[in-house]
Parts: sequence; C-alpha cells; structure tokens
Amino acid sequence: MSASVTKTGLTKRDLITHGVAATAVILFVVTGGQVLPKALRAILGHGEGPDQILASAMLLNIALILLGWRRFRELAREVVVTREEAAEARELAETDPLTGCLNRRSVNAAGEALLAKARQDRRAIVVALLDLDNFKHVNDLHSHQAGDAILRAAAERLRAILPQGAILARIGGDEFACILPFDPRLPDQIEQLCAEIVERVAELVDWNGTEIEATVSLGLARSDDGGDCDVQTLLHKADIAMFHAKRQGRNRIAWFAPAMESELRFRSELEAGIRRGVTAGEFVPYYEKQIDLATGELVGFEMLARWMSPTLGRVGPDIFIPVAEEIGAIAELSESVIRQALRDARDWDPKLTLAVNISPVQLRDPWFAQKLLKLLVEANFPPHRLEIEITESSLHENIGLVRSMITSLKNQGIRVSLDDFGTGYSSLAQLRSLPFDRIKIDRSFISSLPESEENRTIVKSIVALGEGLGMPVTAEGVESEAVLAALGGYEGLKAQGYLYGQPQPADVTLASLRQLHLTLERNDAAPAAEPGEQQARRA
Ligand code: C2E
Ligand code: MG
Ligand code: MG
Repeated sequence: MSASVTKTGLTKRDLITHGVAATAVILFVVTGGQVLPKALRAILGHGEGPDQILASAMLLNIALILLGWRRFRELAREVVVTREEAAEARELAETDPLTGCLNRRSVNAAGEALLAKARQDRRAIVVALLDLDNFKHVNDLHSHQAGDAILRAAAERLRAILPQGAILARIGGDEFACILPFDPRLPDQIEQLCAEIVERVAELVDWNGTEIEATVSLGLARSDDGGDCDVQTLLHKADIAMFHAKRQGRNRIAWFAPAMESELRFRSELEAGIRRGVTAGEFVPYYEKQIDLATGELVGFEMLARWMSPTLGRVGPDIFIPVAEEIGAIAELSESVIRQALRDARDWDPKLTLAVNISPVQLRDPWFAQKLLKLLVEANFPPHRLEIEITESSLHENIGLVRSMITSLKNQGIRVSLDDFGTGYSSLAQLRSLPFDRIKIDRSFISSLPESEENRTIVKSIVALGEGLGMPVTAEGVESEAVLAALGGYEGLKAQGYLYGQPQPADVTLASLRQLHLTLERNDAAPAAEPGEQQARRA
C-alpha cells in the first residue's frame, strides 16, 4: 500500500496513530484521575471499587498508549532506515560504483567548493584530466572485465598518490579528473606529482596472470592563468591539453595553452572532413614504382593513399591515417582505396604486382582476411598479384593474432611483407615465427647509405638476415644514384624511392605503363622514358 509522506518522513497513518495515542493519554489522565483513587481506596478497605465502565476505559487507554509507543518506536526505526537509504542513494548518484571515485555529475560542485576555499587561502587550483592511452584496445583484446580491472587499479594508484583534500573523479569511460589546491609560485610541485602519476599508472596490472599495460596522458589547467576559471572551463581546458599530450606521443603531461584551442578546432575539422571524404570518394590511390635491382625491371607498385580534400588540398597519409584509425574510419577508408587500386591494376600487365598498406587496427578485425577476399573476388583480381604490407610496429600488439592473420592471408595466395623494418624493434624469434614473404628495410637506413658506415653495416646485416630466413628484401627510399650504387653489391634486392619518380595517380601511372608497353592493350606508341625508367631499363 502506498502512503503519502510528509517532510519529516511521517505517513498519514502515522499521524493518525499519534493522534490516537495522544487522545489515549488525555483520556488516561481524565479516567485515571477518577479510577485510580477509587481503586486505591477499595484496596485500603475505605470504599467501593471503581466504576466498571471507567476501569475498562482506563485499561483500554493503557493498551492504546502501549500500542502508540510501539508504533512510535517502529516509526523512529523506519525514519533511520529511510535516512540511511537516502544517504546511500545520494552516494550512488555522486560516485562511480566501479572505482568509488566521484562521478561526472558531482565533480563540478566539489571542485567549485575547493576553488572557493583556495581563493580564500590565496591559493589556486589545478585541474588534471587523465585519459588511459590504449584503453579501448585493452577492452577489445582482453575483455571488459580486464578493462574494469585496469580502471580500478588506476583509481587506487591515483588515490594513493594524491594529497589529502584532492578531488578524484571518474568522468568518462577511461577518463579521470583530479582537482587539487596548489601554491601558484610552485608549479613544479604539480609537475612532479603528475610525473609520478604517469609513471605509477603505467605500471603493469596483473589480470588473471596476464600483465596488462595502460599508459596515461595528462592535461593540466590552472585557475590562475588569467582566463575564466570556473571548474567547467578548467575541465574543458585540461581536456584540450590532454588531447595535445596524446598527439605529442601519449604517456605524457601537457599544460593548457591558448594556441591549443585552434589546433583542436583543426583536428575536429579534420575528423569531420575525413568522415565526409570517405563517403564522397575523396581518398584516392597513388602508385610508387618497385624495381628489381638485378634486372632493372619494373615489377610492381606500392599503393599509397592520398586525400584530395576540397578545403585542405592534397593531404598525405601521415596526417590522415592516425586520425582515421582513432575515429574508427580506417577500415572503410582502406577498403575504398584498395577497391580502386584493384580496379586500376587490372589494366596493368598481369606480371606487375600491387602492394597495399594495412593498418594494425585492421589486423585486429577477425574478418579482415574475408573482407579482402571479397574485394579480390569483386574485382576479379588474382590473389597472387596482391601483397599486403604490415608495419613492424604492429607486431607488438598481439603476435598470436598477427600470426593467424598472416597465415590466413597466405592461404588465400596473398603475399605479406614486413614494412619499415628496423624501426620497430621486432625480435629475431618473432621474425622467425612469422611467415613473411619479404622484408622492407625502412628508408631511414637507406637514404643516408653512402655517408653512413653504420647504416651500411645495418643494411648488410638485414640483407643477411633476410637470406637466412628465406625472406627477400626491398630497400625503401632510394633517392639517388649514389644510394643505388651502395646497394649494388647485394643480390635479389628490390628497390623503390624517388629516384624512380614520385608516387603518381592512376591515370599518370597508366600512361607511363603504356610507354613501357606494360598495359593490357599493347598497341600504343612508346615515347621517351623518364630518368627513373631509363635507370630501371638500363640496370
Ligand atoms: P610506407 O608504406 O613506408 O610508404 C613509403 C613512404 O615513403 C611513402 O610516404 C612514400 O611516398 C615515401 N617515400 C618513398 N620513396 C621515398 C624517397 O625516396 N624519399 C623519401 N623521403 N620518401 C619516400 P607516404 O605516401 O607519405 O606514406 C607514408 C606512410 O603512410 C606509408 O609508409 C604507409 O605506412 C602509410 N600509408 C600510406 N597509404 C596507406 C593506406 O592506404 N593504408 C594504411 N594503413 N597506411 C597507408
Ligand atoms: Mg608501405
Ligand atoms: Mg615503409
């Protein structure tokens, strides 16, 4: 049954109970005043006993008083329980049940109180926004329970480091806010504290025997920097600074600076532009020649994506690939350029191969191999002409997953090469256990080959390693004849680089293939070749 509740927590029923009890007390006083003296006199033998009706009325009164008292006691208990429940509900509304930190709703009020107090004490506050760097990855790779364990560990570590009186809140999936008072003359103290946080939070977390790492990026904003400084504004500024810290390479701290705001605006325009551009077909393939050094022949092309942005002009992949990866647009973008490339390459001589770059994010998709096969079938393109390039740095993500992906690609007849070798510190054991078809030496070792004895030694070792593992080698970034000469001594090498020309769009590529009689229609005239092609033919 529902009963309306007054401000003090009393129900109407309770009010009636109280009324009855109060009336009983009054009646008791009245009836008791007559009944008790008579009863006393009768006991002492001085008179008649009390009137039967009055005596019954008094007993009834006593019963009512007892009843009222019991109900009063129950009521008092109920009020305590209701208060406890209200406090619990308030706490639930204010805190995050997983970590016990304050939540987004309550951080503002707590922060404002701290700010007011700091002002009184002629101090300032600093708002630190922390974001775990690869949290989504932890969830995807290990499970949501592992993600929860990481969050709890991060909260515990933060609580242990933060000084007394600091506010700790979890304000988003993997975002924490710390607000603490500080002496504006000693900002170094805050930096030291934050450096400790970055270090401590990144320590491995043991989850059911698996060691998981989640580094953290930290943005800082202070209330005494001149601008608006309510807690909401400071949180916003710290968020911008945190984003900046991520862009600088994660696992670091950044203080808010006004210039960051325009950068952020650029970034959000970039994100929106990429999303729009993928659907509008603004991403197009460019092609870079690959040359067999032994014969000097053109053997294929590496496809490199370019973004023809209506507002920004031609944008390179170093800018848009990381953003597309972060906003979850990389798979669609990559599929769209690969689809175009497969179509373009059908017009080339069938002996020419096509290499495409694949992001580590795509490698995590268990359906990736199937998706690729679908593209090949759609384009009627033979799998043996396709080569997938995987960067060395993606090997650390999950070697087991990468291995099964490579195996399933190879089962379809697609070749797989290890890109940018020498930059990602892969171990010999890893390399031996992964069935790559080719190693591509990163251009940082190749372009300075003539001047650097050290790089010559490294390249020599990599070529020997490739021979030992049965993996042929490609040298990237061949820019000059001098570099080419330095590579002359090695056998079985492929090369690519600006010496053979810059990457070109599909129509220019096709035109240059026509000159070399390397298209499917072989009846066109052959005008003079470019320097790179002369070189390619001469060798
Ligand atoms: P990468 O696969 O190592 O590609 C080689 C990069 O080096 C290309 O830069 C190319 O233009 C540049 N390059 C080639 N020869 C020379 C040279 O002689 N000197 C110099 N200085 N540079 C040379 P680009 O096109 O800017 O691509 C950068 C990276 O972006 C690529 O490195 C690749 O990892 C990635 N990428 C490109 N297209 C795609 C794509 O469709 N999907 C994914 N996931 N990544 C892509
Ligand atoms: Mg590549
Ligand atoms: Mg490369």
